[in-house]
Amino acid sequence: MTSADLSLSLPRFCPNCGGHLSERLLETEDRPRLVCDQCQRILYLNPKVVAGVIIERGGRLLLLRRAIEPRYGTWTFPAGYMEIDETAEQAAVREVEEEVGLKVKLGPLVGVYSRPAPEAPGVLVVVFQGQRPRGRVKIGREVMEARWFALDAIPWSELSFPTTHWALGDWLRARQDTRRRKAQRAARLRPPRRGG
Ligand SMILES: [Zn+2]
Repeated sequence: MTSADLSLSLPRFCPNCGGHLSERLLETEDRPRLVCDQCQRILYLNPKVVAGVIIERGGRLLLLRRAIEPRYGTWTFPAGYMEIDETAEQAAVREVEEEVGLKVKLGPLVGVYSRPAPEAPGVLVVVFQGQRPRGRVKIGREVMEARWFALDAIPWSELSFPTTHWALGDWLRARQDTRRRKAQRAARLRPPRRGG
């Protein structure tokens, strides 16, 4: 795939010197790259990394409605782009606080999801479980509304992105597996019945 196949607005100028960028196939590269006509540096185009958190309290799941494009008005869990000077975990915790005002501890990883260009600008979404949320929900400026959903009332047809879908599906499956294992363990520990 050349970068022309990507339906993206490709950068036109070199971030190093401001020179014009042209697409060239260099001997040292295995695909065409954007190269600066002036300083000859290559500008690599890579996906952006998003960190998100799925939070449950009392059997309900916290989702928010986006007040920003893309996918304005659709539902997702708290998530956002990582800053250059933070870890994925720090970004996840920060996004939860910015978007819904809660403090969370991170639990296990739910999954890592890719959505390559050209359908999207190219993102890698890292999703954690959020545990023991503290505080009262207070929405941030990129959020229209936040709501605790019963697990059988998740608005599947109004979710923001395919990655939102995939992560919530994985989270629900993992949750069911954990519950099943706990129930089996409890059944094994129960003393056998006597008589009829
Ligand atoms: Zn340059």
